[in-house]
Amino acid sequence: MVKKKMKKSKYNIEVKHKDKNLIFNTKTRNCIILDNDEWTRYEGISAEYEKELSDLGIYVNDFDDEYEEIVDIINSNIARDNETIRSHTIYTTTYCNAHCHYCFEDSFVRESMSLQTANKIVDYILGRQGNSKKLYVIWFGGEPLLNVNVIDVIAKKLKKSLPSDVEFRSSIYTNGVLFSDKLIEHAVAEWNLKAVQITIDGLKTTYENIKGYNFDNGFDLVIERIRAIIKAGIRIQIRINYDDNNVNEILELIDVLSDLLPQKKDVVVYANKIFRSDTDNSKKSSAINDFTIFKKLVECGFCRDILGSIKNNFNTCLAGSEYSKLYLPSGYIIKCDRDCKSIVGNLDGETNQDELSKWKVNRINVMCRDCKVFPLCGGGCIYEFINGKKGCMNSEELVKMKLQYYLDTL
Ligand code: SF4
Ligand code: SF4
Repeated sequence: MVKKKMKKSKYNIEVKHKDKNLIFNTKTRNCIILDNDEWTRYEGISAEYEKELSDLGIYVNDFDDEYEEIVDIINSNIARDNETIRSHTIYTTTYCNAHCHYCFEDSFVRESMSLQTANKIVDYILGRQGNSKKLYVIWFGGEPLLNVNVIDVIAKKLKKSLPSDVEFRSSIYTNGVLFSDKLIEHAVAEWNLKAVQITIDGLKTTYENIKGYNFDNGFDLVIERIRAIIKAGIRIQIRINYDDNNVNEILELIDVLSDLLPQKKDVVVYANKIFRSDTDNSKKSSAINDFTIFKKLVECGFCRDILGSIKNNFNTCLAGSEYSKLYLPSGYIIKCDRDCKSIVGNLDGETNQDELSKWKVNRINVMCRDCKVFPLCGGGCIYEFINGKKGCMNSEELVKMKLQYYLDTL
């Protein structure tokens, strides 16, 4: 029998510190550290290491096409999720009590959902549940809490109508300032609310300027509300929006949040770069800023596992899932909150196939074939891809910096 030839996986990322050499495989997420002598043998595809390193995915067979294997995994995950999970994002309103300049919904018509549309959405959702045992609803806006009646109607009717073996849970994207203690309690009991995402864009002055509330001390109020949400046992994510121009302020903000929110284990804080027309997250300058913020999150205790933060994404974004839909207050259906003009259907079951097919096109960029972080990214943002951009949601540079940081601190 001819012995199989081995090669290094194309998804190995390697960093070095003194005589320690770290190899991290982005597909398997296995990590090993070798001394210089072992490294030389690894480089030479040593027969002595073949079994161990192929078990870790760090060596692969010479004829393996790892890229195609990942594409197959992504496709089978899409098919599996289409069978098992229904995810519906409901814009209760496009009105908002804040005035963030970056809000994509500036292009949205301002309207609130009527109770009649809310009832129609429930019928539509129930009619598409099939045999799926999970139903996730995201309350979205505008500020979704400006239209609590609609949330009440939808949640109540879904809970009453769904079979008992279907798990129904909801989450909300809110600025948080309307979440009174009483409303939080109500949301847990009546909406099966399990998670809240709140965005903070800067220190007190910046935050209050960006939000432009018609009351003072919005920053203090949102921190108080975050504490109340944590106390109620709801999972909270604080999203920090940043761009390459406000990194220093964001670093200060993380320090402030660290002092104000000692319950760090109950809070996920993550920084998200605001998409701009010229943004390419794979650029080195972006990666340096991303890493600087990441390091601060680690130092402040918001991230406790450096390697754990390098996660696989063998999935498409929600826009790529057939059963993931967003419902505007009018009842029109879209696929992604960044493209409210792409109406793919309505609650009467009519579908615009041309628009729908845009989100189904073979969206994986040709550049992904040679990208070492493809197993962490899953092919990027479909909206960006449709608009002729790369839409990278990860970067090899950033992963390398995290690995170097991990190795240096061992
Ligand atoms: S297309 Fe882009 S913006 Fe839209 S859901 Fe997917 S990743 Fe998010
Ligand atoms: S979208 Fe960009 S980061 Fe993601 S796999 Fe493709 S090339 Fe890599």
